[in-house]
Amino acid sequence: QKDQREQEVMEYLEELAFLAETAGAVAVKKFIQKLPHPDSRTYIGKGKLEEIKKYISDRDINVLIFDDELNGSQIMNIEKEVGVKTIDRSDLILDIFARRAKTAQAKAQVELAQYQYILPRLRGMWKHLERLGGGIGTRGPGETEIETDRRIVRDKISLLRKRLAEIDKQSFTQRKDRGEFIRVSLVGYTNVGKSTIMNLLSKSEVLAENKLFATLDTTTRKMVYENTPFLLSDTVGFIRKLPHHLVESFKSTLDEVREADILLHVVDISHLNYEDQIGVVDKTLQDIGAFDKPIITVFNKMDLYIKHTFDEWLDESTKEQILKDLEARWHNHTNGNAIFISALERTNIDELRRTILEKVRELYRIRYPYKS
Ligand code: GDP
Repeated sequence: QKDQREQEVMEYLEELAFLAETAGAVAVKKFIQKLPHPDSRTYIGKGKLEEIKKYISDRDINVLIFDDELNGSQIMNIEKEVGVKTIDRSDLILDIFARRAKTAQAKAQVELAQYQYILPRLRGMWKHLERLGGGIGTRGPGETEIETDRRIVRDKISLLRKRLAEIDKQSFTQRKDRGEFIRVSLVGYTNVGKSTIMNLLSKSEVLAENKLFATLDTTTRKMVYENTPFLLSDTVGFIRKLPHHLVESFKSTLDEVREADILLHVVDISHLNYEDQIGVVDKTLQDIGAFDKPIITVFNKMDLYIKHTFDEWLDESTKEQILKDLEARWHNHTNGNAIFISALERTNIDELRRTILEKVRELYRIRYPYKS
Protein backbone atom coordinates (compact mmCIF):
# COMPACT_ATOMS: atom_id res chain seq x y z
CA GLN A 1 0.00 0.00 0.00
CA LYS A 2 2.76 2.38 1.03
CA ASP A 3 4.81 1.50 -2.04
CA GLN A 4 1.82 2.08 -4.26
CA ARG A 5 1.24 5.54 -2.77
CA GLU A 6 4.88 6.41 -3.26
CA GLN A 7 4.80 5.25 -6.86
CA GLU A 8 1.71 7.36 -7.42
CA VAL A 9 3.42 10.44 -6.01
CA MET A 10 6.47 9.77 -8.19
CA GLU A 11 4.16 9.60 -11.23
CA TYR A 12 2.69 12.96 -10.26
CA LEU A 13 6.18 14.40 -10.05
CA GLU A 14 7.05 12.85 -13.43
CA GLU A 15 4.07 14.66 -14.85
CA LEU A 16 5.17 17.87 -13.17
CA ALA A 17 8.64 17.43 -14.71
CA PHE A 18 6.99 16.92 -18.08
CA LEU A 19 4.98 20.10 -17.58
CA ALA A 20 8.21 21.93 -16.68
CA GLU A 21 9.80 20.64 -19.88
CA THR A 22 6.83 21.88 -21.86
CA ALA A 23 7.48 25.29 -20.32
CA GLY A 24 11.12 25.08 -21.43
CA ALA A 25 12.82 23.98 -18.21
CA VAL A 26 14.79 20.85 -17.38
CA ALA A 27 13.90 19.08 -14.15
CA VAL A 28 17.04 17.82 -12.40
CA LYS A 29 15.81 16.57 -9.05
CA LYS A 30 12.58 15.51 -7.34
CA PHE A 31 11.89 15.81 -3.62
CA ILE A 32 9.08 14.08 -1.75
CA GLN A 33 7.91 15.09 1.71
CA LYS A 34 5.82 12.92 4.02
CA LEU A 35 4.09 15.03 6.64
CA PRO A 36 0.67 14.63 8.29
CA HIS A 37 -0.05 18.34 7.75
CA PRO A 38 1.59 20.97 5.58
CA ASP A 39 3.56 23.62 7.46
CA SER A 40 1.49 26.80 7.37
CA ARG A 41 4.54 29.01 6.91
CA THR A 42 6.63 27.12 4.36
CA TYR A 43 4.35 24.24 3.26
CA ILE A 44 7.16 21.69 3.68
CA GLY A 45 8.99 21.09 6.94
CA LYS A 46 12.22 22.70 8.15
CA GLY A 47 14.37 19.63 7.49
CA LYS A 48 13.17 19.21 3.91
CA LEU A 49 13.65 22.90 3.25
CA GLU A 50 17.26 22.61 4.49
CA GLU A 51 17.83 19.59 2.27
CA ILE A 52 16.55 21.47 -0.79
CA LYS A 53 18.56 24.55 0.08
CA LYS A 54 21.71 22.48 0.39
CA TYR A 55 21.05 20.74 -2.92
CA ILE A 56 20.45 24.04 -4.70
CA SER A 57 23.37 25.89 -3.15
CA ASP A 58 26.15 24.23 -5.16
CA ARG A 59 24.25 23.85 -8.42
CA ASP A 60 23.01 26.10 -11.19
CA ILE A 61 19.32 25.91 -10.42
CA ASN A 62 16.86 28.71 -11.16
CA VAL A 63 13.48 27.55 -10.08
CA LEU A 64 11.75 25.38 -7.49
CA ILE A 65 8.35 23.96 -8.49
CA PHE A 66 5.73 22.58 -6.08
CA ASP A 67 3.08 20.11 -7.23
CA ASP A 68 0.61 21.48 -4.68
CA GLU A 69 -0.87 24.93 -4.55
CA LEU A 70 0.97 27.39 -2.31
CA ASN A 71 -0.34 30.68 -0.96
CA GLY A 72 1.40 34.00 -1.47
CA SER A 73 3.18 34.13 1.86
CA GLN A 74 4.36 30.51 1.62
CA ILE A 75 5.98 31.32 -1.71
CA MET A 76 7.69 34.37 -0.17
CA ASN A 77 8.90 32.40 2.85
CA ILE A 78 10.30 29.57 0.76
CA GLU A 79 12.00 31.94 -1.67
CA LYS A 80 13.61 33.78 1.22
CA GLU A 81 14.88 30.48 2.60
CA VAL A 82 16.21 28.77 -0.54
CA GLY A 83 17.07 31.86 -2.58
CA VAL A 84 15.53 30.80 -5.92
CA LYS A 85 12.27 31.63 -7.64
CA THR A 86 9.51 29.38 -6.35
CA ILE A 87 6.30 28.56 -8.22
CA ASP A 88 3.50 26.03 -7.89
CA ARG A 89 1.71 23.75 -10.33
CA SER A 90 -0.95 26.36 -11.11
CA ASP A 91 1.72 28.95 -11.93
CA LEU A 92 3.39 26.48 -14.25
CA ILE A 93 0.19 25.53 -16.04
CA LEU A 94 -0.76 29.19 -16.44
CA ASP A 95 2.68 29.89 -17.88
CA ILE A 96 2.31 27.10 -20.43
CA PHE A 97 -1.16 28.25 -21.38
CA ALA A 98 0.12 31.81 -21.80
CA ARG A 99 2.82 30.63 -24.19
CA ARG A 100 0.43 28.50 -26.18
CA ALA A 101 -2.51 30.87 -26.49
CA LYS A 102 -2.79 32.04 -30.08
CA THR A 103 -6.26 33.42 -30.67
CA ALA A 104 -7.60 36.56 -29.02
CA GLN A 105 -10.01 34.40 -27.08
CA ALA A 106 -7.40 32.02 -25.70
CA LYS A 107 -5.14 34.95 -24.81
CA ALA A 108 -7.92 36.77 -22.95
CA GLN A 109 -8.92 33.56 -21.16
CA VAL A 110 -5.38 32.95 -19.93
CA GLU A 111 -4.94 36.56 -18.88
CA LEU A 112 -8.19 36.42 -16.93
CA ALA A 113 -7.06 33.24 -15.17
CA GLN A 114 -3.72 34.85 -14.32
CA TYR A 115 -5.32 37.90 -12.73
CA GLN A 116 -7.75 35.73 -10.81
CA TYR A 117 -4.84 33.68 -9.59
CA ILE A 118 -2.95 36.77 -8.42
CA LEU A 119 -5.83 38.52 -6.67
CA PRO A 120 -6.00 36.46 -3.44
CA ARG A 121 -2.20 36.31 -3.31
CA LEU A 122 -1.67 40.07 -3.29
CA ARG A 123 -2.21 40.37 0.47
CA GLY A 124 0.47 37.77 1.21
CA MET A 125 2.96 39.54 -1.02
CA TRP A 126 2.31 42.91 0.62
CA LYS A 127 2.39 41.46 4.14
CA HIS A 128 5.86 40.21 3.35
CA LEU A 129 7.00 43.69 2.24
CA GLU A 130 5.31 45.31 5.21
CA ARG A 131 7.18 43.11 7.62
CA LEU A 132 10.43 44.10 5.99
CA GLY A 133 9.53 47.77 6.40
CA GLY A 134 8.66 47.35 10.06
CA GLY A 135 4.94 48.09 9.68
CA ILE A 136 4.73 51.76 10.61
CA GLY A 137 1.46 53.01 12.05
CA THR A 138 -1.87 51.21 12.19
CA ARG A 139 -2.68 51.84 8.55
CA GLY A 140 0.76 51.55 7.03
CA PRO A 141 1.50 52.47 3.44
CA GLY A 142 1.06 48.79 2.53
CA GLU A 143 -2.63 48.92 3.30
CA THR A 144 -3.45 51.62 0.75
CA GLU A 145 -1.10 50.22 -1.83
CA ILE A 146 -2.58 46.77 -1.62
CA GLU A 147 -6.01 48.34 -2.10
CA THR A 148 -4.78 50.21 -5.17
CA ASP A 149 -3.27 47.06 -6.59
CA ARG A 150 -6.40 45.11 -5.90
CA ARG A 151 -8.52 47.70 -7.64
CA ILE A 152 -6.25 47.61 -10.69
CA VAL A 153 -6.44 43.83 -10.81
CA ARG A 154 -10.23 43.86 -10.32
CA ASP A 155 -10.67 46.42 -13.10
CA LYS A 156 -8.53 44.27 -15.37
CA ILE A 157 -10.65 41.22 -14.52
CA SER A 158 -13.93 42.93 -15.33
CA LEU A 159 -12.51 44.33 -18.57
CA LEU A 160 -11.36 40.88 -19.67
CA ARG A 161 -14.72 39.39 -18.71
CA LYS A 162 -16.46 41.94 -20.92
CA ARG A 163 -14.12 41.26 -23.80
CA LEU A 164 -14.66 37.52 -23.45
CA ALA A 165 -18.42 37.94 -23.32
CA GLU A 166 -18.26 39.73 -26.68
CA ILE A 167 -16.09 37.03 -28.21
CA ASP A 168 -18.49 34.46 -26.74
CA LYS A 169 -21.43 36.09 -28.49
CA GLN A 170 -19.57 35.90 -31.80
CA SER A 171 -18.57 32.27 -31.38
CA PHE A 172 -22.07 31.34 -30.30
CA THR A 173 -23.41 32.79 -33.57
CA GLN A 174 -20.68 30.96 -35.47
CA ARG A 175 -21.57 27.70 -33.77
CA LYS A 176 -25.25 28.28 -34.53
CA ASP A 177 -24.34 28.74 -38.21
CA ARG A 178 -23.05 25.20 -38.27
CA GLY A 179 -26.66 24.22 -38.65
CA GLU A 180 -27.95 20.77 -38.10
CA PHE A 181 -24.67 18.89 -38.26
CA ILE A 182 -24.02 16.34 -35.56
CA ARG A 183 -21.02 17.47 -33.54
CA VAL A 184 -18.35 15.08 -32.35
CA SER A 185 -15.73 16.34 -29.86
CA LEU A 186 -12.44 14.72 -28.94
CA VAL A 187 -11.85 14.98 -25.20
CA GLY A 188 -9.27 13.39 -22.95
CA TYR A 189 -6.35 13.89 -20.66
CA THR A 190 -3.56 15.92 -22.12
CA ASN A 191 -1.03 14.16 -24.41
CA VAL A 192 -3.14 11.03 -24.97
CA GLY A 193 -3.17 11.45 -28.76
CA LYS A 194 -6.23 13.58 -29.52
CA SER A 195 -4.51 15.69 -32.18
CA THR A 196 -2.97 12.63 -33.78
CA ILE A 197 -6.40 11.03 -34.03
CA MET A 198 -7.88 14.25 -35.35
CA ASN A 199 -5.23 14.27 -38.08
CA LEU A 200 -5.82 10.66 -38.88
CA LEU A 201 -9.58 11.00 -39.13
CA SER A 202 -9.64 14.27 -41.00
CA LYS A 203 -6.30 14.06 -42.80
CA SER A 204 -5.68 17.59 -41.62
CA GLU A 205 -2.50 18.96 -40.13
CA VAL A 206 -3.26 19.70 -36.51
CA LEU A 207 -0.18 20.20 -34.40
CA ALA A 208 0.69 16.93 -32.62
CA GLU A 209 3.55 17.16 -30.18
CA ASN A 210 4.83 15.16 -27.29
CA LYS A 211 4.15 18.08 -25.02
CA LEU A 212 1.35 18.86 -22.68
CA PHE A 213 -1.38 21.16 -23.97
CA ALA A 214 -0.23 21.33 -27.57
CA THR A 215 -3.83 22.24 -28.33
CA LEU A 216 -5.28 25.31 -26.67
CA ASP A 217 -7.75 26.49 -29.21
CA THR A 218 -10.52 24.42 -30.63
CA THR A 219 -10.12 23.16 -34.19
CA THR A 220 -13.25 22.06 -36.00
CA ARG A 221 -13.34 20.13 -39.27
CA LYS A 222 -16.27 19.16 -41.41
CA MET A 223 -16.18 15.47 -42.19
CA VAL A 224 -18.12 13.26 -44.55
CA TYR A 225 -18.14 9.48 -44.07
CA GLU A 226 -20.13 7.52 -46.60
CA ASN A 227 -22.28 10.54 -47.45
CA THR A 228 -22.93 11.30 -43.79
CA PRO A 229 -21.60 14.71 -42.79
CA PHE A 230 -20.65 15.69 -39.24
CA LEU A 231 -18.32 18.08 -37.42
CA LEU A 232 -15.24 16.91 -35.56
CA SER A 233 -13.52 19.12 -32.96
CA ASP A 234 -10.28 18.82 -31.06
CA THR A 235 -10.30 20.60 -27.70
CA VAL A 236 -7.98 21.46 -24.85
CA GLY A 237 -6.62 18.49 -22.89
CA PHE A 238 -7.73 17.97 -19.32
CA ILE A 239 -5.24 17.53 -16.53
CA ARG A 240 -5.40 16.78 -12.83
CA LYS A 241 -5.44 19.80 -10.56
CA LEU A 242 -6.15 22.18 -13.40
CA PRO A 243 -6.22 25.57 -11.70
CA HIS A 244 -9.78 26.20 -10.73
CA HIS A 245 -9.80 29.65 -12.34
CA LEU A 246 -8.52 28.23 -15.57
CA VAL A 247 -11.48 25.90 -15.83
CA GLU A 248 -13.72 28.88 -15.24
CA SER A 249 -12.04 31.14 -17.75
CA PHE A 250 -11.87 28.38 -20.34
CA LYS A 251 -15.62 28.04 -20.20
CA SER A 252 -16.10 29.01 -23.81
CA THR A 253 -13.50 26.52 -25.03
CA LEU A 254 -15.33 23.96 -22.95
CA ASP A 255 -18.62 25.11 -24.51
CA GLU A 256 -17.50 23.20 -27.56
CA VAL A 257 -17.57 20.08 -25.40
CA ARG A 258 -20.80 21.06 -23.67
CA GLU A 259 -22.57 21.61 -26.96
CA ALA A 260 -21.21 18.47 -28.61
CA ASP A 261 -23.57 15.59 -29.47
CA ILE A 262 -21.04 12.78 -29.16
CA LEU A 263 -17.81 12.66 -27.18
CA LEU A 264 -14.78 10.62 -28.13
CA HIS A 265 -12.96 10.16 -24.83
CA VAL A 266 -9.38 9.34 -25.79
CA VAL A 267 -7.32 7.42 -23.21
CA ASP A 268 -3.58 6.70 -23.25
CA ILE A 269 -3.72 3.09 -22.13
CA SER A 270 0.07 2.83 -22.00
CA HIS A 271 0.18 5.34 -19.15
CA LEU A 272 0.66 3.87 -15.66
CA ASN A 273 -2.02 6.15 -14.23
CA TYR A 274 -4.49 5.90 -17.08
CA GLU A 275 -7.38 4.94 -14.81
CA ASP A 276 -6.66 8.02 -12.71
CA GLN A 277 -6.70 10.10 -15.88
CA ILE A 278 -10.05 8.63 -16.92
CA GLY A 279 -11.36 9.73 -13.52
CA VAL A 280 -10.07 13.30 -13.96
CA VAL A 281 -11.74 13.58 -17.37
CA ASP A 282 -15.03 12.08 -16.16
CA LYS A 283 -15.04 14.48 -13.22
CA THR A 284 -14.39 17.49 -15.49
CA LEU A 285 -17.16 16.35 -17.83
CA GLN A 286 -19.49 16.12 -14.84
CA ASP A 287 -18.45 19.58 -13.66
CA ILE A 288 -19.31 21.18 -16.98
CA GLY A 289 -22.52 19.19 -17.35
CA ALA A 290 -21.41 17.10 -20.33
CA PHE A 291 -21.33 13.64 -18.77
CA ASP A 292 -24.75 12.53 -20.00
CA LYS A 293 -23.81 12.57 -23.69
CA PRO A 294 -23.07 9.46 -25.71
CA ILE A 295 -19.40 8.73 -25.05
CA ILE A 296 -17.15 6.44 -27.07
CA THR A 297 -14.02 5.61 -25.08
CA VAL A 298 -11.03 5.28 -27.40
CA PHE A 299 -8.13 3.42 -25.80
CA ASN A 300 -5.15 4.70 -27.74
CA LYS A 301 -1.43 3.78 -27.80
CA MET A 302 -2.12 0.05 -27.74
CA ASP A 303 1.27 -0.42 -29.43
CA LEU A 304 3.04 1.07 -26.39
CA TYR A 305 0.79 -0.80 -23.97
CA ILE A 306 1.74 -4.08 -25.64
CA LYS A 307 5.41 -3.16 -25.59
CA HIS A 308 5.27 -2.34 -21.86
CA THR A 309 3.14 -5.28 -20.81
CA PHE A 310 4.33 -8.21 -22.88
CA ASP A 311 7.62 -9.91 -22.23
CA GLU A 312 9.35 -11.72 -25.05
CA TRP A 313 8.90 -15.10 -23.39
CA LEU A 314 5.12 -14.75 -23.18
CA ASP A 315 3.35 -17.10 -25.61
CA GLU A 316 0.80 -15.88 -28.11
CA SER A 317 -2.24 -17.41 -26.43
CA THR A 318 -1.41 -15.77 -23.10
CA LYS A 319 -1.00 -12.43 -24.84
CA GLU A 320 -4.33 -12.88 -26.54
CA GLN A 321 -5.97 -13.75 -23.24
CA ILE A 322 -4.54 -10.65 -21.53
CA LEU A 323 -5.84 -8.43 -24.31
CA LYS A 324 -9.21 -10.14 -24.28
CA ASP A 325 -9.55 -9.66 -20.53
CA LEU A 326 -8.57 -6.02 -20.78
CA GLU A 327 -11.05 -5.37 -23.57
CA ALA A 328 -13.83 -7.27 -21.81
CA ARG A 329 -13.27 -5.29 -18.63
CA TRP A 330 -13.55 -1.95 -20.41
CA HIS A 331 -16.43 -3.00 -22.65
CA ASN A 332 -18.19 -3.81 -19.43
CA HIS A 333 -17.35 -0.44 -17.86
CA THR A 334 -18.45 1.55 -20.89
CA ASN A 335 -21.57 -0.38 -21.86
CA GLY A 336 -19.86 -1.69 -24.94
CA ASN A 337 -18.68 1.73 -26.09
CA ALA A 338 -14.96 1.03 -25.97
CA ILE A 339 -12.52 0.74 -28.84
CA PHE A 340 -8.82 -0.11 -28.83
CA ILE A 341 -6.49 1.51 -31.33
CA SER A 342 -3.00 2.70 -32.08
CA ALA A 343 -3.12 6.03 -33.84
CA LEU A 344 0.60 5.81 -34.48
CA GLU A 345 0.54 2.36 -36.11
CA ARG A 346 -2.95 2.98 -37.49
CA THR A 347 -4.46 -0.18 -36.04
CA ASN A 348 -8.22 -0.42 -35.77
CA ILE A 349 -8.80 3.00 -37.31
CA ASP A 350 -11.43 1.60 -39.67
CA GLU A 351 -13.32 0.25 -36.70
CA LEU A 352 -13.09 3.66 -35.03
CA ARG A 353 -14.49 5.30 -38.18
CA ARG A 354 -17.29 2.76 -38.35
CA THR A 355 -18.19 3.27 -34.68
CA ILE A 356 -18.32 7.05 -35.11
CA LEU A 357 -20.41 6.73 -38.26
CA GLU A 358 -22.90 4.42 -36.54
CA LYS A 359 -23.33 6.79 -33.61
CA VAL A 360 -23.66 9.83 -35.88
CA ARG A 361 -26.30 8.11 -38.01
CA GLU A 362 -28.17 6.97 -34.93
CA LEU A 363 -28.38 10.57 -33.71
CA TYR A 364 -29.47 11.86 -37.11
CA ARG A 365 -32.28 9.33 -37.08
CA ILE A 366 -33.41 10.40 -33.63
CA ARG A 367 -33.12 14.10 -34.37
CA TYR A 368 -34.50 14.22 -37.88
CA PRO A 369 -36.83 11.24 -38.14
CA TYR A 370 -38.71 12.77 -41.07
CA LYS A 371 -35.54 12.80 -43.19
CA SER A 372 -34.71 9.12 -43.05
P1 GDP B 1 -2.96 15.37 -27.41
O1 GDP B 1 -2.28 16.27 -26.44
O2 GDP B 1 -3.97 14.50 -26.73
O3 GDP B 1 -3.53 16.09 -28.60
O4 GDP B 1 -1.85 14.33 -27.94
P2 GDP B 1 -1.01 14.34 -29.31
O5 GDP B 1 -1.86 13.91 -30.45
O6 GDP B 1 -0.28 15.64 -29.43
O7 GDP B 1 0.00 13.14 -29.03
C1 GDP B 1 0.89 13.16 -27.94
C2 GDP B 1 2.08 12.25 -28.21
O8 GDP B 1 1.67 10.89 -28.27
C3 GDP B 1 2.73 12.52 -29.57
O9 GDP B 1 4.14 12.39 -29.41
C4 GDP B 1 2.20 11.42 -30.46
O10 GDP B 1 3.06 11.10 -31.51
C5 GDP B 1 2.07 10.27 -29.48
N1 GDP B 1 1.06 9.28 -29.88
C6 GDP B 1 -0.21 9.51 -30.30
N2 GDP B 1 -0.85 8.36 -30.58
C7 GDP B 1 0.03 7.35 -30.33
C8 GDP B 1 -0.04 5.90 -30.41
O11 GDP B 1 -1.04 5.29 -30.81
N3 GDP B 1 1.08 5.24 -30.03
C9 GDP B 1 2.22 5.85 -29.60
N4 GDP B 1 3.26 5.09 -29.26
N5 GDP B 1 2.31 7.19 -29.52
C10 GDP B 1 1.25 7.94 -29.88
